[in-house]
Amino acid sequence: MKDIAFGYERKKIALVAHDFKKKDMLEWARYNRVTLSHHDLYATGTTGSMIEQEVGIPVVKLKSGPLGGDQQIGAKIAEGEIDFLIFFWDPMSQMPHDPDVKALLRIAMVWNIPVACNRVSADYVISSPLMWERTPRHHTNYDGYLARKVEV
Ligand code: PGA
Repeated sequence: MKDIAFGYERKKIALVAHDFKKKDMLEWARYNRVTLSHHDLYATGTTGSMIEQEVGIPVVKLKSGPLGGDQQIGAKIAEGEIDFLIFFWDPMSQMPHDPDVKALLRIAMVWNIPVACNRVSADYVISSPLMWERTPRHHTNYDGYLARKVEV
């Protein structure tokens, strides 16, 4: 949606951080508070609550990641409702919802949205001039896949 008053394109940003990465996410969100406050934020439950409380910007909070929040974000990506994903996942811990983590990363690739998995990448994304422009989605064309002949 275009913000008519300020003439820039509001982005729909999904934010997810595993427990050992929540400190990183909070510091990053605090540093980028003003920019983030001009966009629409969606997050898994705990990540979203912490950002709202500690950073003071509104977030649409979905279920906690292991309780289905990752899948809810994945569904929004598949519906074209998320412009990019900031996903600080923890490479050093085993997760009960490891399949959901993989699924979220996969669906983001299926729909070709930008994904930042650490603070440096997130900094590059959020400081891009494209943040403020209308950016056409570059979806892969799946028509061939959908029209495939399935032997039964
Ligand atoms: P949480 O979920 O924000 O509810 O902790 C993050 C995750 O996917 O583990």
